[in-house]
Amino acid sequence: MNQATHSSPPSTANALAIDKLEVHYQGIIALRSVTLEVRQGEIFTLIGPNGAGKSSLVNAITGIVPSTGAIAFEGGELNRLPAHQRARRGVIQVPEGRRVIAPLSVMENLLLGCEAVGARKGDVQADLDRVFTLFPILAERRSQLSGTMSGGQQQMLAIGRALMGHPRVLLLDEPSLGLAPVIIADVFRAIRQLNQDGMTIFLVEQNARLALETAHRAAVLEQGRIVKQGEAAVLAHDPEVEEHYFGQAAAH
Ligand code: ATP
Repeated sequence: MNQATHSSPPSTANALAIDKLEVHYQGIIALRSVTLEVRQGEIFTLIGPNGAGKSSLVNAITGIVPSTGAIAFEGGELNRLPAHQRARRGVIQVPEGRRVIAPLSVMENLLLGCEAVGARKGDVQADLDRVFTLFPILAERRSQLSGTMSGGQQQMLAIGRALMGHPRVLLLDEPSLGLAPVIIADVFRAIRQLNQDGMTIFLVEQNARLALETAHRAAVLEQGRIVKQGEAAVLAHDPEVEEHYFGQAAAH
């Protein structure tokens, strides 16, 4: 069942409009003229094989890697802004591999999420309460060193840290990577909850079946190019997608 259909339909206004985006790394072309739109309030997922350029696209949107082409966010152009200014506008990433700061506690990692946007916006306690409501385990473990937590707990912490920066679009890079199915279900429940509360989500996933079940719309990236895009429920029944992306490894 497509879980996304439970939430109210997203608007047709664009949160992100990406036009002819290119990323090059010293001779390697990672993205070739990528054009796509992410609508306000939707979950948009990008699927594709290893090395297709998925992380490069997330990193180009958040400004961690340089790119050419246009990235309009809520109508304003991002592509000349440094990463920290994009974060302040609410373009915030949960990186692949979580990247929590192992020697710091859960609470210290969460507070870093405020520092990352340059200022503590609003009421930090209210922000913490929101994160702890979404992930009660983080409240229980608030004093624990994050490096001693399980992979699933670290993923929840990485999402919580991003939420402390008040994302308007949350970009998640492979949130299911290396996690047990029961933990993946918890993480995806939280992603759907954030979306139902109104947050726009850009989800990069290798678990294509789960990603397409979760998202409203989707694109397939292969060798740096978008080869398909459309409604997630339609792509989930596309024979080529089924053949190439619904293998044993992606089953859950
Ligand atoms: P994965 O699922 O394995 O993370 P991906 O779809 O996210 O893959 P990218 O990590 O964006 O793909 O990589 C796209 C291409 O760019 C690959 O050929 C990769 O080897 C190359 N690449 C990525 N980062 C760099 C870098 N910093 N320097 C040089 N080449 C890079």
